[in-house]
Amino acid sequence: MDRISSSARLAAAQADLFIDPRRLDARLEELGRIGHDERGGRTRLALTSEDKDGRDLVVRWLQEAGARVCVDRIGNIYGVSEGRSDAPPIMTGSHIDTVARAGALDGCYGVLAGIEVLQVLRDRGLCPNRRIVVAAFTNEEGARFTPDLLGSRVIAKDISLEAALALAARDGAVIGDELRRIGYAGEMSPWELLPHAFVELHIEQGPILDAEQMPIGVVEGVQGHSWWRITIEGTANHAGTTPMRMRRDAGTAAMALALRLSEHARTHGIPDVATVGVMKLEPGSINVVPGRAEFTLDLRDPRDEALHAAEQFLAQALSELDASGLRSSSQQLSRHPAVVFDRQLCALIEAQAKELGLATRRMSSGASHDAQMMARLCPTAMIFVPSSKGISHNPREHTDASQLHAGANLLLRTVLRLASD
Ligand SMILES: [Zn+2]
Repeated sequence: MDRISSSARLAAAQADLFIDPRRLDARLEELGRIGHDERGGRTRLALTSEDKDGRDLVVRWLQEAGARVCVDRIGNIYGVSEGRSDAPPIMTGSHIDTVARAGALDGCYGVLAGIEVLQVLRDRGLCPNRRIVVAAFTNEEGARFTPDLLGSRVIAKDISLEAALALAARDGAVIGDELRRIGYAGEMSPWELLPHAFVELHIEQGPILDAEQMPIGVVEGVQGHSWWRITIEGTANHAGTTPMRMRRDAGTAAMALALRLSEHARTHGIPDVATVGVMKLEPGSINVVPGRAEFTLDLRDPRDEALHAAEQFLAQALSELDASGLRSSSQQLSRHPAVVFDRQLCALIEAQAKELGLATRRMSSGASHDAQMMARLCPTAMIFVPSSKGISHNPREHTDASQLHAGANLLLRTVLRLASD
């Protein structure tokens, strides 16, 4: 078929371009069968043989969609559909590695919807101005190798390629060796296809869109996080003989502090969410007043100011605790500032959704995504579709097929629009 090369004709054609819903459903199911277990989950940890099988399938589908497939040195897979110019491409994509016993949609949906975009171009013989690239990034989940978002992290130079290739998993496997073993140690530079813009389509993995019956979330950014380990020292003593007024109880002090921090988040929204996920009391006996308490604190907010304010509130609460006769210490385990996506790109996604008759709401992402790394390189945004009951990283992860199709059609329009400039 002759490739139509005028952007005017592309724009005219865009009005009736849609992905093939049955093909998308079938492919999500087929990819979801790789690494599956009888209880309904699937496990394709990064760079395992199951990941290789998933990658092989994605490569085959990219080729069927007419894309030129290349693999970079950290194993990111790219399907490139040629444009009329060599201008920096428009990139979409996500990941196909999973956590243990995952659902079928996290990451895979964004990659397979991207392949649909390329397939539509091929089927309709369309050639936009810019190349369109569909990426499947290596080790997004971080379930086998730390850090997460590894493929996009290398592109964003948050970690060097050499350091990434030398990372070892707890099972002893090293990334560089595993890439060679599964045949995905590519030769391409990770910086060869730096995009003009990046759009990632993903399930929300949270309950908001589902609760509001809203088909599309336009993601304005990824919330920042601040992780802490808090330790409180008191005096361990006999639970029967030590009067309440004479105790230095590290346990109740830790519980009171944890409650105070989460109440502050609940009533003042500082920060947006605060979680105490681990608490250990020592010596850990039914008949001993705890002499030492240690707990973790996870603070998250899409606003950097609010994250700072929450950290100050924590510091203030700790100094009050010290004044009361206990001894506290805090260690920051990890901190990521909030990521703000491109405003114009968010507006473009909204406009395209409107043309498709899809209602939207602005939101921030509670989970990490490759898009937050790509945002350092080019205008970036994300499109969310609902997750039924907000369940994810679980075999029961579900999104209605019609909502998956709507999101994929919105991705198609958004990417074509970006590529025609
Ligand atoms: Zn994901």
